[in-house]
Amino acid sequence: MTTTSIPDSPQPTPPETDLPDAPAPRNSSPLATAHSQLATAVEVLGYDSGQHQMLATPRREIHVAVPLRRDDGETVLFHGFRVQHNISRGPGKGGLRYAPGVDIDEVRALAMWMTWKCGIVDLPYGGAKGGVAIDPRDYSTAELERVTRRYTSEIMPMIGPDTDVMAPDMGTDEQTMAWVMDTYSVNRGYTIPAVVTGKPLAVGGSRGRGTATSAGIVHVTAAALEEAGVPLTDVTVAVQGFGKVGSHAAAIFAERGAKVVAVSDQYGGLRNDAGIDVKRLLEHLAATGSVVGFDDAEPLSNVDLLGLEVDVLVPAAVEGVLDEQTAGRVRARWVVEGANGPTTTAGDAILARNGVTVVPDVLANAGGVVVSYFEWVQANQTYWWAEHEIAERLEHRMTSAYGDVSALARRQDLSLRDAALVIGIQRTAEAHRIRGLYP
Ligand code: GLU
Repeated sequence: MTTTSIPDSPQPTPPETDLPDAPAPRNSSPLATAHSQLATAVEVLGYDSGQHQMLATPRREIHVAVPLRRDDGETVLFHGFRVQHNISRGPGKGGLRYAPGVDIDEVRALAMWMTWKCGIVDLPYGGAKGGVAIDPRDYSTAELERVTRRYTSEIMPMIGPDTDVMAPDMGTDEQTMAWVMDTYSVNRGYTIPAVVTGKPLAVGGSRGRGTATSAGIVHVTAAALEEAGVPLTDVTVAVQGFGKVGSHAAAIFAERGAKVVAVSDQYGGLRNDAGIDVKRLLEHLAATGSVVGFDDAEPLSNVDLLGLEVDVLVPAAVEGVLDEQTAGRVRARWVVEGANGPTTTAGDAILARNGVTVVPDVLANAGGVVVSYFEWVQANQTYWWAEHEIAERLEHRMTSAYGDVSALARRQDLSLRDAALVIGIQRTAEAHRIRGLYP
């Protein structure tokens, strides 16, 4: 079967050029959340509507058809996207997501968050994101390799070590990055490791990248607790999402002496008030593919996990889980956002009203892109660092970024989210201003 047209095309919405005059509706879509966060920060910064529009609008976007010849010979077609939200401070930087609901607006939101995130931890990058609307669980490894290679070929004009550098995100991993790197390199005629980060060590990956996002989450949590005079060893933690980010975060929290009392994944959750043996749980996960069925804990629903009486709640699954319906149930004192965009604007307002401190995604989960940056620097220098150097530099970046955000929040009476966004947005706008407008 040959595919001649794109069936069921999710229609991309036109760029929102009228944004400052007609703010995005305050509903729970990731793009609406991202736009409403931007609008708040722009107000704090006192920027005019032209500046607001520049910051709200992606520099470049591509929507590609990704046909796949399945193992049984049939052809199916997926939609792929890459958005460079900003490239003023350096190459676009951001992950590649494989998930069934991916569309252009979600990728736009995620790309915008990458810009602010890179600004907050002061990396010489803009922000970008890619996605393919596919459920990777439904396809064989060989099929995913073909999807990845075809997607890479289609977006080839946009990516490169100096233009736009990809990394793993939900549904993709270091093998995916190796395929992207290989496809790009074969087409250029030589090996170019710096076109992606989050690669396997054997092809120029960095030590510490696999656990970097999670380690960063624990660093900022420790910094937030320290400010409140609470030792990490005294707190209870619940983690929603037990994928690459949540599982390692739970393990590092436990290693550092916090008590992990609840975790969940897409199939269900677990609770043990005496503390979950995370090491054993990871073995159970490796054997069964889920946390469900672990013998040393009680079953718990994903929604009930959000309402547990714990000190720290880490939403590390998907966007929008803390919204007007669920945020009011949160009884944690700190919410540390491991996922991108887990709290909607309405959810944020409820948490603030209830005195919950939110350490925002763009700060809390920035450890991944920080070590991506280290990997890119190492690849550009073809000189690889020891594990301890990466760990120390990561901790330093995360705690100093937390310190900057928290100081600004106190100085200007802002939430940590607004303070973080103000820093990231200001750094981006400053680069625009100094570079000037061409022509
Ligand atoms: N996907 C990760 C994120 O959302 C990492 C991005 C990167 O390393 O470029 O931050």
